[in-house]
Amino acid sequence: AESTLADIVSHAKEYGFVFPSSEIYDGLAAVYDYGPYGVELKNNLKQLWWRAMTQLNQNVVGIDAAIFMHPTTWKASGHVDGFSDPLIDNLDSKKRYRADVLVEDKAAEYENAGDKARADALLVELGRLLTENDLAGVKQLILDEKILCPISKTANWTEVRQFNLMFSTQVGAVAGDSSQIYLRPETAQGIFVNFLNVQKSARAKVPFGIAQIGKAFRNEIVARQFIFRMREFEQMEMQFFVRPGTEGEWYQQWKETRRRWHEAMGLPAAKLRFHDHEKLAHYAKAAVDIEYEFPFGFKEIEGIHSRGDFDLTQHQQYSRKKQNYFDNDVNPETGKPYGNYVPYVVETSVGADRLFLATLCQAFQEETITEGEGEKQQTKTRKLLKLHPAVAPIKAAIFPLVKKDGLPEKANEIYNSLRHDFPLVVEEKDSIGTRYTRQDLIGTPFCVAVDHQTLEDNTVTVRHRDSREQTRMPIADLRAYIGEAVSF
Ligand code: ATP
Repeated sequence: AESTLADIVSHAKEYGFVFPSSEIYDGLAAVYDYGPYGVELKNNLKQLWWRAMTQLNQNVVGIDAAIFMHPTTWKASGHVDGFSDPLIDNLDSKKRYRADVLVEDKAAEYENAGDKARADALLVELGRLLTENDLAGVKQLILDEKILCPISKTANWTEVRQFNLMFSTQVGAVAGDSSQIYLRPETAQGIFVNFLNVQKSARAKVPFGIAQIGKAFRNEIVARQFIFRMREFEQMEMQFFVRPGTEGEWYQQWKETRRRWHEAMGLPAAKLRFHDHEKLAHYAKAAVDIEYEFPFGFKEIEGIHSRGDFDLTQHQQYSRKKQNYFDNDVNPETGKPYGNYVPYVVETSVGADRLFLATLCQAFQEETITEGEGEKQQTKTRKLLKLHPAVAPIKAAIFPLVKKDGLPEKANEIYNSLRHDFPLVVEEKDSIGTRYTRQDLIGTPFCVAVDHQTLEDNTVTVRHRDSREQTRMPIADLRAYIGEAVSF
């Protein structure tokens, strides 16, 4: 059976991946904490993204900008005036919804019922209304489509209004308009305002990119679907600065590169798709989402946007500081250097938490297995996380078969010889079967059993998570064997 989101949520909590925030106080909506295995998995995902961006591309460098920024940043970026979602309340249930999401859910309903044309038409119409900021039109669409409140099953809706998603707070001791600042709703602006600092200090030549991983905050209207939509989350963004006129090629290239990356990370091609935006954000010339098929349907995990020179020219205007780049390369058409221009930007933006959720959904499996021989043979179901070894929180668990005869000491000796290379655990408690089960549940690719023979010939049994096959090998081979498997 397909696993549901509820299965994933409870597994994530029970086995130390994700906890509701401040749970002893009944939690805080749309905020979550990562547990002991969750933080390792998330760090691994972030590190692989970072390496794919900065280490594997000579022309991409990283930064780590502050969450707080000068408030004018958000005027210039368009967020103060335009970063809002259309909100609607149901008068019976007193529940609040995103008007666009209600329509999108309806479209998904049509699509699931096989009427793709009707679904597409509805989305195109929604996109048109939102682009024109026709909120009355969106309300009418909800009425025409006979969309009912999911809770009270009524159509008793208020008007649609815009709701700004930015959190604000005060800096310093004096409260007032001048000291109001925002928690960044995206990491991208920290990159744009540092464009010239980075370009000059890193002696970067266009085309080049700046990558960043960091927290972002959005006062999302509806909190649902676990860590898919949070109020505090992490983004991994890369802004790639290009010569105007070349953005189309770079957009295509990054689109393909990013999709291949998700496949390499273990998301199967059949569960990934591109989705072109019907409605373009205020900054965008072209935009596409990479969607993954979650248990609740195909949803965005990453956005790739061709932003033109919108951001840099806006910051140039508001800061009165030129954001020009001088391009020495010779234009074959004129025989002269391309000269001064404001670069265009192609960005890739992926949510670390959404990638985490996709990874967890993909890895979580329940399978029927047969164990034992002859009369002792039995079938049972086994739950496990088939995580790519490169992202697994623990790479190997070392088990002394019994808690005596020097086996625990031998296990610790192996642990000490490998702990600089990999995250490992030593487990002595419980039967070996129980210990295997526990490691399967957190996605550990290898279990290393230490038995009496180990004391004689320095060999161990390595048990593989997915196949449950066991291989006998010298302790001396473990580093290379595990190292090979966990490299990416
Ligand atoms: P959505 O339409 O789902 O709200 P978005 O189009 O607003 O997302 P972007 O602004 O393009 O998202 O942000 C880039 C990425 O950041 C998204 O692809 C997603 O992975 C992540 N992201 C955005 N909002 C959230 C959130 N509230 N919680 C978790 N991740 C998010």
